[in-house]
Amino acid sequence: MKLFKRTSLFGSDMHTDHKHERDSLLIGRFQPLHNGHLEVMRKISEASDKMTIGIGSAQYSHTVNNPFTAGERYRMIVNSLKDEGIDNAYIVPIEDLNRYSVWVSHVISMSPPFTIVYSNNTLTRRLFVEAGYEIKDSPMYNRHEYSGKEVRRRMLCDGDWRSLVPKAVADVIDDIDGVGRLAELRGDV
Ligand code: ATP
Ligand code: MG
Repeated sequence: MKLFKRTSLFGSDMHTDHKHERDSLLIGRFQPLHNGHLEVMRKISEASDKMTIGIGSAQYSHTVNNPFTAGERYRMIVNSLKDEGIDNAYIVPIEDLNRYSVWVSHVISMSPPFTIVYSNNTLTRRLFVEAGYEIKDSPMYNRHEYSGKEVRRRMLCDGDWRSLVPKAVADVIDDIDGVGRLAELRGDV
């Protein structure tokens, strides 16, 4: 006797059900969230019924390239979305697996249903395409300045990082002494 009916290669057919055809996924590390991320979230939110934001590499924190915990990044995102009036987002932390062949099913297992994936990352796109998902380009805004790497660089050299991030992100970073943390991680203090 069959205990359950398998309807989809990647778990339940909830994820491919037409009811969720306007539900989307955006994954980033958000170390930290910056104005480019927020702009793309605004656009995706408008084009979606529900928008899931996956906090990638969720298990990492307290390194120069991944200074903030998943919880801190969660606060940055949820507070920024609230200030923007975006109210159709789910936020889920997603740990790295380092086993790409099963990464998509891992993401699915952590997320509410979605059918559209927004990504510019070549590997992310390939993995979701191979799993049968619809991939859309997400436009890049002022990438020269709006990148996590540039925000971290400015935090480390006492530069103007605040103009690159939403006010809610600067508030969280101040609250946890993020600048002091980065300086210590680099071995400056
Ligand atoms: P890092 O420099 O730390 O890698 P990042 O700015 O590249 O940070 P990630 O946290 O790696 O941002 O998240 C990547 C996701 O964010 C991708 O889907 C990418 O398309 C989107 N993204 C990054 N920068 C921008 C931007 N300036 N405008 C729009 N989307 C962006
Ligand atoms: Mg990146």
